[in-house]
Amino acid sequence: MTRARGKLIVISAPSGCGKTTITRALLRRNPQYTFSVSATTRPRRRNEVYGKHYFFLTEEEFRRAIEKNELVEWETIYGDYYGTLKSVVDEALENGKVLLFDIDVNGGLSIKKHYPDDTVLIFIEPPGIEDLKKRLRRRNTEGSEQFKRRIERVPMELEKGKSFDYSVVNADLDKAIDEVDKIVQKEIYSVTN
Ligand code: 5GP
Repeated sequence: MTRARGKLIVISAPSGCGKTTITRALLRRNPQYTFSVSATTRPRRRNEVYGKHYFFLTEEEFRRAIEKNELVEWETIYGDYYGTLKSVVDEALENGKVLLFDIDVNGGLSIKKHYPDDTVLIFIEPPGIEDLKKRLRRRNTEGSEQFKRRIERVPMELEKGKSFDYSVVNADLDKAIDEVDKIVQKEIYSVTN
């Protein structure tokens, strides 16, 4: 099916709720979808590829992109800049692509504000705060400072998640992937544009 205009699907969640895993699973199941590659100043992790996972920029390059109005939205998260490039979004919309975003709640709300008719916001919830803490502790990429920073954002994230179009509880990863997959299919196939 070719769409006249693309669709923007934002998947947001507190850190540790599995949104990156869910986004990647959706892209594997639906290779016709496109991942929205963000810009960031955070250091590249092992296995991450420039232009595939992120456009890794210096702070100076990022600030220049802000000044030149090249970003739809940007946030500082855990001390680094993250932002969505206008060029990525506009290209996808013009070419009828389904663009998947793995971005934070504030970024998601900004995308919706800029492209209200094109955007679907999906929030991934943890089954509970204690479960989320357990998941974050299990990640060994974070030291205790990072853990604290991530936990501190959770109440704000849960509150903002309430205004998303859909909410999916990730108690069982496979079920959550199925549910998100169905929501996206419903959204992209039921609307004719
Ligand atoms: P990480 O460093 O773990 O890849 O991402 C940290 C947080 O930044 C995650 O919540 C991720 O979804 C979010 N993020 C990634 N790209 C963007 C973006 O372009 N805009 C916003 N607002 N958040 C982003």
